[in-house]
This record gives sequence, C-alpha cells and structure tokens, in this order.
Amino acid sequence: QVVNYAPFTLLPSAVPSALFEQAYAVQQDFNLLVDAISQNKEFLEHTLASTIKVDDFTARLFRIHMQVLEEGLAQSVFLGINRSDYMFDCGVDGTPALKQIEINTIAASFGGLTSRTAAVHGQVLKVLGKSEEASRLLPNNPSKGLALGIAKAWELYGSQSAVVMFLVEEVQRNIFDQRCVENELWNRNIRVIRKRFRDVFEKGSLDDAKRLYVDGQEVAVVYYREGYVPKNYDQQNWEARLLLERSRAVKCPDIATQLAGTKKVQQELSRPGTLERLLPGRTEAVARIRATFAGLYSLDMGEEGDKIAATAIADPDRFVLKPQREGGGNNLYGEELREVLEKIRDSPERTSYILMDKIKPQPAMNYLLRAHSPLQVSECISELGIFGVYVRQGKEMVMNKAAGHLLRTKAIEHADGGVAAGVAVLDTPYLV
Ligand code: ADP
Ligand code: MG
Repeated sequence: QVVNYAPFTLLPSAVPSALFEQAYAVQQDFNLLVDAISQNKEFLEHTLASTIKVDDFTARLFRIHMQVLEEGLAQSVFLGINRSDYMFDCGVDGTPALKQIEINTIAASFGGLTSRTAAVHGQVLKVLGKSEEASRLLPNNPSKGLALGIAKAWELYGSQSAVVMFLVEEVQRNIFDQRCVENELWNRNIRVIRKRFRDVFEKGSLDDAKRLYVDGQEVAVVYYREGYVPKNYDQQNWEARLLLERSRAVKCPDIATQLAGTKKVQQELSRPGTLERLLPGRTEAVARIRATFAGLYSLDMGEEGDKIAATAIADPDRFVLKPQREGGGNNLYGEELREVLEKIRDSPERTSYILMDKIKPQPAMNYLLRAHSPLQVSECISELGIFGVYVRQGKEMVMNKAAGHLLRTKAIEHADGGVAAGVAVLDTPYLV
C-alpha cells in the first residue's frame, strides 16, 4: 500500500462572492428537485427511454429501479448527499456567471479532505505575511454536515444496534476522505463498517422484514462510495446491488436518486416547463435553479437532434459531448467531439450522449502541488461544488441543507477531469 498526499493548490483562488452566495442559495432547491425526480417514476421512465435502449449500464440500473418498485419499496427513510458543481462562465463583457456543470447524486467525494484545506491555505497565507487575507478564508466542514445527515437517517431507521455501512471500492484510493466522515459518526457513537460489493454478495442477506444483514450485523444506512461506473460491477456485484436496493436499509442514494443524477436527466430538466412540472408551485426555486443552467441539448433521433448535431460538428469548440458516465475523463471536446459525432450522427448510438454548451471561465495563475510532479506555475480554472444533504421520512422532508463547499482547480490544458482522475487539485475559495 502506498500513502500519498492529496494534491492541492499552493494558494487559494479568487471566487466572486456573489456567485458563491448564489450557489449556496440554490442548494436546497436542488435537493428538493433531486428528491422529487427520484419519486417520479413516469418522469424517469420517459426521460431515460431513449438512453436505456443504447446504454447498457443505465439500462441495468433502470431495471433494478423498476424491479424494486414492482416489489414495493421496503425503505421509508431517504437520505440524499449530492454535490452540485459549477464553473464561472465569462461573458462577452467579462462578467462571470454561475453555470452548473453537473450534479453528483452518488459518491460525491472530497467533502472530507476539503474540510482541511482552508487551514492549509490559511497557513500558507500567514507564512507569506498575509494574515489579514488568511483570516478572511471561510470555515468549511462538509464532513460534519454529511455525517449529520447520515446520523439523522440512522436515527430514523430506529435500531440502536444497527450500523452504517460504507460501500467502498475494491482498490481504495480515497480512503482518508471517507474516514473524515466516518470519524464524525464514531464521535456520535454510531458504528461504521466498510464493505465491498463482494462482501455483500458473500455475507449479505435480508430477513422476513427485508432488514439487511451483512456479516451478522444489521445495516441501517448504506452509504455508497462505489457503484457509479460500469467497471464497479460484475454479475455478483449486480446481485449485491439488487439485494441492497430491495432492503429496508436507507440507501444513500437509492437507485432512483442515482438515476436522477444522470446527464440525460440534467439535459431534460433544461427543457421549458420541466422544472415547473417537477416542482409545482415553487416559482422562486424554479427561477433560482434555471438561472444556473447552461445550454443543454438532446441528441434523441429526430429533427431537433439532427440540427444540434450538425451545429456541433460545424463548431465543436462551442460544445462538450457527454456520455452517461461519472468520474471524469469521459467527455469529448473539439476535434474529437467532431469525429465521434460525425461517426454516430445517423445512428441511435448518439442518444447515449448529450450536448452541452462549453463553459469558458477566466483563467488565473496558481501552483498545483502534486506528489512527484515538478513545481511550476500554471494557468488554471476552478470548479466550485456545493454539498447538499437531505433526509425524507415518508413524504416529509426532515432535513434539507447546504453542507459546505469544495473548490477544485486544474490547469487549462486539461479539458476534462476531477481530482480522482488526476487532473484537478483541492483548493480554497478566496472571496472577492
Ligand atoms: P463527470 O461525471 O465525469 O465528473 P462532468 O460533467 O463533471 O462529468 O465533467 C467532467 C469535467 O469536464 C468537469 O469537471 C469540467 O472540468 C469539464 N466540463 C464538463 N462540462 C463542461 C462544460 N460544459 N464546459 C466546460 N467544461 C466542462
Ligand atoms: Mg463532475
């Protein structure tokens, strides 16, 4: 095993305070929206219909979703932990605007490690003789906020002896990030176990009341830090996933909420009228959400899709082509976008992708500190994430919060990729 430090910027990065506040202000709305989508069978079915014909992974998730619904939901407490990510799009007049990149509804990470970055950057600023600036860095502790959500779900599940299970990767690359959240739970006297899909397959079972047992322990909450990309699954892992979804345990997220975070759903949300239908009577929330949307386009077969495909082929630098994948490094840009789209433009395969306007932030200089990499100043852009946590019991929302933020910064030569993908590094916003 190799222990390494997580990469980070030497200096905090400037973030416009108005946009920072806007991102916080819309987070509870996004929590409500994700939760509403997860309960709307017709919307998910209709929205994902074209995608699941061509995308096997989404199709398999969807089949589990349908199977669980047919059987009847055993779960009555719902816990959502998401992270809505944004970039600051630089308009023609130079004014930046907050534009959502995506919302992550499963395994949204770095809430733990980023709970420590403000202290690191505060120290660096002090050493540079900038204690005034250091004192202006905001406190930020998403690990506590996420743990409070998990603790609430655990409490509502209502069994003192039940544990919280972190469902973790086969090869654990980000364990310390997870430990920060885990330790907050131990501090509240909630027991945590760490298991892989394989352990669930081998040692998991349901009793008559669909209570979940793994290795002899009753599980109140399953917190997925795994299970969002096809390579996480073999046949046994799919069976384990189905077992978990059928159980009474609170899943964070349940499979419907995972589907609510697909890029296809994001694209459908941008259609006129969709937000209004999903959040009836919440005019202000709808307006706040819509203000963060960049242009998103369906590639479904038909005239609308033909037209936008032709536009993107003619001017690929205006767009990003996104498949239904998570974790960074999957999107296509520029010449590659053109080549792929040209190849699939007349085939239903194109419906496994969506198109999105490319966000163009104003770069700034910083040093990206990464183990075994030479120290050099780079032109960088940042992506701000806000963590959202909510708990619902039956029909009643019992918690709905913004739980902290994450700033990730990368060199501009990388079009794609997050921290886990080895591209972006942890940062701290310096509000201006
Ligand atoms: P993933 O699920 O793989 O994280 P994202 O939609 O977050 O997918 O895209 C990955 C990365 O690609 C983002 O972190 C961002 O750096 C870049 N990216 C995504 N969408 C856009 C966009 N519309 N404009 C500019 N960059 C983008
Ligand atoms: Mg992302």
